[in-house]
Amino acid sequence: MRDSQIEAIVARAASVMGTSHRQAPVRDIVGSVRDGLSRLFSLPDGWEIVLGNGGSTVFWDVAVFSLIRARSHHLVFGEFSSKFAEAATAAPHLDDPVVVGSEPGTRPALTADASCDTVAYPHNETSTGVAMTPARPDGDALVLVDATSAAGGLAWSASQADVYYFAPQKCFASDGGLWLAACSPRAIERIAEIKASKRWIPASLDLSIALDNSRANQTYNTPALATFIMLDEQVKWLNDKGGLAWAAARCAESARTLYSWAERTPWASPFVTDPSHRSDVVGTIDLDGVDANEVNAILRANGIVDTDSYRKLGRNQMRIGMFPSVEPTDVAALTTCIEMVVSHLRS
Ligand SMILES: *Cc1c(COP(=O)(O)O)cnc(C)c1O
Repeated sequence: MRDSQIEAIVARAASVMGTSHRQAPVRDIVGSVRDGLSRLFSLPDGWEIVLGNGGSTVFWDVAVFSLIRARSHHLVFGEFSSKFAEAATAAPHLDDPVVVGSEPGTRPALTADASCDTVAYPHNETSTGVAMTPARPDGDALVLVDATSAAGGLAWSASQADVYYFAPQKCFASDGGLWLAACSPRAIERIAEIKASKRWIPASLDLSIALDNSRANQTYNTPALATFIMLDEQVKWLNDKGGLAWAAARCAESARTLYSWAERTPWASPFVTDPSHRSDVVGTIDLDGVDANEVNAILRANGIVDTDSYRKLGRNQMRIGMFPSVEPTDVAALTTCIEMVVSHLRS
């Protein structure tokens, strides 16, 4: 995280922390976040930023209640996309979803079964480092994109999705516990249609309630205020620097540095074999002949943390965050550190 986000909390704490989220000082920050995100994503007229408490995991339950009409199609290529598919499978009010998976490190083809009213996939599968630029499959399914680790760091076009949802603890370098969703006019129609059907929807998962509150720059129940201050600061920074195009170019530079290093290093290789599927925000690098856990532990002991692979993947791997707050030169410095650790381990 950049220091200016922490400084923003200190500077704005006195007028905001501990005050009501239904009064102007907090609502102004929420409004600034909603406007700033609309600008960052170049959202067309009619799109809205909706938000609520609970993070992206809770948004899967929100979607199960308020976005999927009867049957969803899930593209599953890692841990996060599989969890949304599980939530839809478990819902007694929905038909069994169509779930199409692919091996870790790859991604399935973008299709939506004609029987499905909704299609869901991640923009970036954080567990494996595979990215998939949002696109509409044939048919007219509502397109839900899990952008938790992609939003603010990878390019996308609003013409290619209906709901682009995320939480602020990755590219937006804030804290967890909040979900945000950019919703198209079609998505807003779907929310109203399901609400009118009188389906039972728990109030905390009801997108129509969240939408009403968001339009008033509020959440249905009390949010963490520091999260909003840090998020607002990061969105302003991204917009000031040149918006999404600037952020995406910065992450792409970091990614080029990481992947080209792995390709020319005999004991390292990018896990994702197809270069066009490699993520610019989460890089996964397999190690050969040297124990990645040992490398990660030594890095951690020296203050370089969270280079560990996704534990359930079970590979001898490092996973590197390359979100917009990360200086591309720091990625180059990291590769030098890894080489130094490995040369000590091997000597
Ligand atoms: C981190 C992440 C999540 C989980 O986010 P929470 O806010 O912790 O629920 C979901 N999907 C993707 C793609 C993620 O990277």
